[in-house]
This record gives sequence, structure tokens and C-alpha cells, in this order.
Amino acid sequence: MDQYHRCVLCNRSCGVNRSEGSRGFCEEGSTLRVAWAGIHRGEEPVLCGPGGSGTIFFTGCTLKCFFCQNYQLSRDGMGREITIETFASLCLRLQDAGVENINLVTGTQWIPSIVEGLSRAKDSGLRIPVLWNSSGFENDLALSLLEPLIDVYLPDLKTLDADFSKELFGTPRYPETATKAILRMVETRPPRFEEDRMVQGVIVRHLVLPGFLENTREVLKWFSRHLRYRAILSLMFQYTPLPAGVFPQAKVRASSSVEWGRGISEAEYHSVLDYLEEFGIRDGFVQEYAPVENLLPDFSRPDAFPKNLATPLWSWAESG
Ligand code: SF4
Repeated sequence: MDQYHRCVLCNRSCGVNRSEGSRGFCEEGSTLRVAWAGIHRGEEPVLCGPGGSGTIFFTGCTLKCFFCQNYQLSRDGMGREITIETFASLCLRLQDAGVENINLVTGTQWIPSIVEGLSRAKDSGLRIPVLWNSSGFENDLALSLLEPLIDVYLPDLKTLDADFSKELFGTPRYPETATKAILRMVETRPPRFEEDRMVQGVIVRHLVLPGFLENTREVLKWFSRHLRYRAILSLMFQYTPLPAGVFPQAKVRASSSVEWGRGISEAEYHSVLDYLEEFGIRDGFVQEYAPVENLLPDFSRPDAFPKNLATPLWSWAESG
């Protein structure tokens, strides 16, 4: 596929030929790699409905947050090479299982393969909405490839601070890239619902980080100014410290000033709710406060999630 020959699929703009063995920041080649596919019931209610969300997790990442909750995929490279045909058939199997949508998680580094696979799946009868669930680090090329096929966007908006972005992701370009991408997503996909389910639109997710409330406040202020009534906000408090030995020795100023080893405190939770009031944000989803527990999935097992949260359909960890 042409886009892998001189890869600029994200704003890392590595320019490497992934088809001939060169690797860029994401460390991925040109054969699609997938880690897990199944029915997920833990997404926002407008996405889950009675059937659940048909979720496919890809290997690799263009951002690699050092606190990544899916570090096994983004940093450790768990996953298996599959053909475009297998990817298309996974989408159709999920649809046959009764899911409400196809939910593609962190696939920016695989856009050419995903576009081809989705096109084949649609030609073969895929009719349910397709969700693009990402870090929001998509450039214009990526979005122009995706737009004909994506119904609902689910981007993160992690920070608007270029210095913080450099510390967390090794690039200061995240805020400018993500805000531009989200505005384009909102422009091209105004919200549309069928019964209680979102079948078109944008849900912007923000994960609150312990000790960084000012970061959250700036994100909410921007959301209020640019996206209120045009997109839905989903505020997440599920930050979970990584297990001992997994947390990378990130060279970030933040690591010395923030207690990355703890979850969000109840006082922080209520402060963030006050921000919602301050900026007049009333539509959306806010996770309830719960003391931190281990919510990290384990993709080394087919049952990567607790049984009440997900049902596996395919896993890289299964034999055969
Ligand atoms: S997708 Fe990977 S190789 Fe391509 S520009 Fe982004 S990080 Fe670099």
C-alpha cells in the first residue's frame, strides 16, 4: 500500500518505508497486526446499547503515552499479523454477534489496511456504524482516508499544553494536531441518534490525570468554547497506576511532581465537577467516583477484560 512506502500517516512524519523493513516511531511494519476483538460493554451507553460495542484493538500506537493503560499493545507490541480478509471477516462476525457498531481502537498506524478491510466488509454486508476510537493525533491525510468510512469519532483530548505534550509524548505537536482534527471531525459528523444510540457524531474523551487539574480545566474550557452542543464530552477518571516494573523511566519533569502511583482523589473529582459547572457543560458522560482499583486489561489472555465487561471473539493469545 502506497502510504506505507513513505509513511506520514501521523504528525510524527517519520517518512520511512515500512514495506521494506524500516520502522518509524510506531515500530510497525506494513502487515496489519491485531490483538483482540470482541463485544465490549464498558463504552459510553450511547455506544453500547443492548448489543454491546464490537471492539477491535490494534497493535502499536503513534503517541505512546508513558502511562498508557493499554501499554501491552502500544509499547510491548502484543498482537498477531492478520490479512485484510481476516480483518473484514472479524467485522462481519462481530455484526453477526449482534453488536451495535464496530469500534476500532488506536488504529492510526494501520489506516491504509483498515480502509481496505472496511471497504471489503461493507461490500460484503457490513451495515452497522463504524467508530474511530483514537488519541486524536490524526492529520489531514489520515482523516481524508477515514472520512468515507467512519460514522462516529471517539477522539481523546489529552492536553492543550505543548510543553506538557512534549513531556508526555515526546512531541509538542499533540495539542495543535488534536484540536484541528477534532474540529474537522465535528464539522463532518454532526450528531445523529437512533433511539438511544449514537449512529453519527463525535464524543471527545478526556482522562483526568492525578495532580494535573489545571490541564483538565483548560481542556474543558476549550471544549465549552468550541464544541458545546456540537459534540459530547466523556470525562474519565479511571487512571490506573501501571504495575511495578512496567512504569517506564520516562524522562519527564512531570514524573517528579506528580504522584503517578495513585488514582484520582475524591477532592480532585469534585473539583473537576465544579469545572463543568463553571463552563456550563451539562451534556455528556462523567464516570462515577470510585477509589482506584486495577482496571487494566490483560491482553496476554483471551479474557483480557472482566467477564461482565467484555466477551472475546478473537485474540492474538489464542493458539491457531
Ligand atoms: S504511522 Fe508510524 S511510521 Fe507512520 S508517521 Fe506515524 S509513527 Fe511514523
